[in-house]
Amino acid sequence: MSGDSREAPTVDGGGNGVVTESVKPNFQVNMSVASSQRLRLNPNKDHKPESYEDLQLDFAPSVFSSLERYLPPSMFSVSRDDKVKFMREILLKYLPHGERTRVQRQREYRQKIISHYQPLHRELYTLHAATFFVPSFIKAISDNTEESLRNIMSEPSPGVFTFEMLQPHFCDMLLEEVENFEKWVDASKLRIMRPNTMNKYGAVLDDFGLETMLDKLMDGYIRPIAKVFFPEVGGSSLDSHHGFIVEYGEDRDLDLGFHVDDSEISLNVCLGKQFSGGELFFRGTRCDKHVNTGSQPEEIFDFTHVPGRAVLHRGRHRHGARATTSGHRINLLIWCRSSVFREMKKYQKDFSSWCGECIREKQERQRLSIAATKSMRHSYYQCKDLDEKL
Ligand SMILES: [Zn+2]
Repeated sequence: MSGDSREAPTVDGGGNGVVTESVKPNFQVNMSVASSQRLRLNPNKDHKPESYEDLQLDFAPSVFSSLERYLPPSMFSVSRDDKVKFMREILLKYLPHGERTRVQRQREYRQKIISHYQPLHRELYTLHAATFFVPSFIKAISDNTEESLRNIMSEPSPGVFTFEMLQPHFCDMLLEEVENFEKWVDASKLRIMRPNTMNKYGAVLDDFGLETMLDKLMDGYIRPIAKVFFPEVGGSSLDSHHGFIVEYGEDRDLDLGFHVDDSEISLNVCLGKQFSGGELFFRGTRCDKHVNTGSQPEEIFDFTHVPGRAVLHRGRHRHGARATTSGHRINLLIWCRSSVFREMKKYQKDFSSWCGECIREKQERQRLSIAATKSMRHSYYQCKDLDEKL
């Protein structure tokens, strides 16, 4: 009985020097769970965790399901709400104070919206592949081979992948849902947060209940692609997202200047409406250090949006949107992030394998060193010639 209930009082990082925080859930869940309860060192593989999919939580439902196996045995029998409370406290302890406050505020903000907003199309809030995606996309994902993905993909410029993804009916429903949400925002006089500093017009989908659905979309449909085409920027470990809608129109264009996204991988799909202009232009992938350097001719690429057709690119791929010359265009954007990649990047040396300018600099250094070696050899043989003549 006591054999496998070893507790893990602290995670001191052992020899790896990365994790230094302690895991000490020193709060009280209820009277039956003592404050000294700690996580187990090894997961209980026989325990079948509960599903947390239906809850609006500040960490992905799968994180709770995974963590549940590490709960102290006495906690398996407490209610799901108590488990959530216990695990959430532990997870929050890993976040720095500022981040914890931000997560808390975001949760309250979302809760406030979700508890008052009446969705128009409930079917959008649970991922249903057959109604969301075109058959070719579903098949490529379910075959899940590099070849099946390459078959539906075109790469018109290095690092820019495009493919047919969303059903017209799904695009229409999402457009109507966003419109419905905007109307509700106006009527309720609620001040909502816009997706980012660049877009005054747009809504964060995660804020009004679509977070869990978009998480599933990232887990099941974006990550498998990113794993194949973007392994160098954490494509296989994408674990959080920011999903939003941006609206462009002749009356609404702001500064759509050139930028990089706060993401490892960005998915951009036009949902439609009638429009002309508004091309998405790309100018090569750059690291922080090289973000303002010039573009090579082969990095210059313009993409014309087609409703339902997705564009997938690295967040560090510099891009912008040209003015929409007529009509109105609405795009769905999902910025996918990898916490592992971000952590690893802190320890990374100068060179980024995915930065066009880093690659160019490296090739230039190699070229110079080859040239130097050649010229040394050349002078050596000239001297040797001279020696022999003398
Ligand atoms: Zn660079």
